[in-house]
Parts: sequence; C-alpha cells; structure tokens
Amino acid sequence: MSITELACKRVQELTPYQSARRIGGVGRVYLNANESPEGTRFDLDSTSYNRYPECQPPELLKAYGDYTGINADRILVARGSDEVIGLLCRAFCEPGKDSILICPPTYGMYSIAAETNGITTVKIAPTENFQPDLPKVLDALKNGSVKVLFLCSPNNPTGTVLDRKILLDILRETEGRTIVVVDEAYIEFSPNDSFIDLLDEYRHLVITRTLSKAFGLAGLRCGFALADPEIIGILLKVIDPYPVSAPVAQVATEALSPENVSIMLKRVDELNRIRNDFLARCKTLKCVTGSFDCNANYVLLRFRDGEKLFSDARKAGFILRDFNDKPMLKNCVRITVGTRSEMDDLFNFMKEHDE
Ligand SMILES: *Cc1c(COP(=O)(O)O)cnc(C)c1O
Repeated sequence: MSITELACKRVQELTPYQSARRIGGVGRVYLNANESPEGTRFDLDSTSYNRYPECQPPELLKAYGDYTGINADRILVARGSDEVIGLLCRAFCEPGKDSILICPPTYGMYSIAAETNGITTVKIAPTENFQPDLPKVLDALKNGSVKVLFLCSPNNPTGTVLDRKILLDILRETEGRTIVVVDEAYIEFSPNDSFIDLLDEYRHLVITRTLSKAFGLAGLRCGFALADPEIIGILLKVIDPYPVSAPVAQVATEALSPENVSIMLKRVDELNRIRNDFLARCKTLKCVTGSFDCNANYVLLRFRDGEKLFSDARKAGFILRDFNDKPMLKNCVRITVGTRSEMDDLFNFMKEHDE
C-alpha cells in the first residue's frame, strides 16, 4: 500500500495550484504575477515573539478600518485573500453537495479552493463585454446548490470593472440564498469602482481585499474580508487559531499608516500612468490585434500569435503570463505593469519583433 493511496480519493486527484511563481521560469524581468515592481523597508520589533499572536490583531483591524472607513467588526484578516476564498468555500458549502459559481475567464483560485474542499464549480460564460450574463447566472442559481458566487472587479485577467447595475440585480435576486463575493484585489487602481458602500444594505455581500497588489506586499501574505458581522463570525469559526503571525501584523499595520497609504497612492498613480502609456504604444504594433480596457496593474493584449510572443519574450528574459488556453482568450497574454524602464525594454523588444 503506497502512502498516496492513503490520501483522500479527492486529494489524490488534485494538482497543486499553478501559481505564476511556480510556472514562470527564470528570467530577467518578472511581469507575470501582478506584483508591485518595488518593495518598501519595514523594521520589526521581535521581542514579543515568544507569545502567541491574537487571532485577529486589533491594531491591524483598526488600521484597515481607518483605511476603508469600515467598522472593525465587519473586517476579517487572513493569510492573504486566497485564505479568505478558501474560508468562504468551507464555511458555506457542504462538500459533495453544494457548489460555487464563477464567470470565467477569471481568477483561478475560486475553483481550486472549491475543488480542494470537495465542492463543485458551476461556470457561466460572461457576455461579450465580459460582464456576468445576468439571465444565465440567475437561471443557474435556481437549482439551489450554488451557495457562493465569486465575482472579481477589476477582473483578473481582463481588467473589467463589474457593472454596478448587474451586481445590484444579482444582489436583489440572491438575498437569503447565496453569498455574493466581489474580489477587489485591484481596487486601489480603480478606487471609484468599489462596492464597499453596498455592504450596509446587502448582508449577503462579501468584499475581499489584499495587501499583495497596490500595497506591494505579496510576500507578506495578508488579506481581508469585509462583510456583515454575522458573516465575519461564521468565517471565524473555520479560520485557524493564529492566521496572522506577529511580524505580519506589525508590518501590515505599519503599511496602513496614513503616511504609507499616501506612498501607496502615489505608486498607484505612477503605475496607472505607465500602464496607459504602455497600452497606447502597444496599440500601434502590428502584432497586437486587440486589447482590453484594463483598470488594474496589468494589461491583457491579444496578439496575432500569442503563444509565439509569450515564448519569444521568455527567451529574451521577460516572464509574462499566457492566457491562450483560457475561455474567450485565444492568443491573449497578460503583462503586469512594472517600472517605466522595464516597460520601455519590453516595448522595444516587441517593436523589434513586430511583423
Ligand atoms: C492576486 C490576487 C489575489 C491574491 O491575493 P492574496 O492576498 O495574495 O492571496 C486574489 N484575487 C485576485 C483576483 C488576485 O489577482
């Protein structure tokens, strides 16, 4: 009997998440994981690491509450928003019975978190402009097994911002039946499009956030759920006792100080400018046949031959992310916005290979 046979059947069949970090390979310029191109220095006080941390460090909840204007009892902090996604699946879906609903192409972790927990994923293709297809979504919700609906705005990888009217229709139709999650991992790049103001009225709405993107702290592992206190209470039943280590709590709290928030906002401004300039220049290339109106720190481009562009760029040291095999994204490559000089280098490479 092999050890593998001892593992749950379901687990034997899983493949680990193919993160950008895992599949990226080695290069010179990393534009494949939507990370911030630059980090910030933080100093730590390690003298109290002999003690267990609080499950939900109060100073961190307060700092995130001050940043978002949300009361601390509506905030859950976790080991990245990926952990929040997993908690939502575990807390609201019965394994082997319930399902989640997504509208792919979207972030890959929703279905992976579901699958890991024995939960199936219902997939409903979006409309042509990458909005949820309302009648089809509502129809799929009728069968009653869908407990959590994951939407992403701005959506990874298309950058599309969710239409407020469609979300409101969904929220009205799902009240008391389905949890509606809006993943706002990139919201700092498009700050006027947050749905945070709907939390008061819709108690089944959950907004997920992270310090991994605009705050430049992907390596820290710190994310949040914003929701009604009742939902926060449910998630606290399934979270590990110490999800946020003491150094993470210290750095995250520091990153949310008014001074560091204003540094973050300046960085976001600069990245948005670099993105717009890069995108405008790419549109002049012959090899680029289409682009998306992207409201985050990446662009999604359609190439005449996306796979070739992706592999040529890789040989030249630019690690991008290929979406060619994803629904509706034939020949599409996602490019994270790096520093101005990284984007100049990449553009020059593309220009030299433009045919
Ligand atoms: C990067 C990303 C996340 C991951 O956030 P972590 O806080 O680093 O776990 C979540 N959602 C989307 C859409 C992302 O692109």
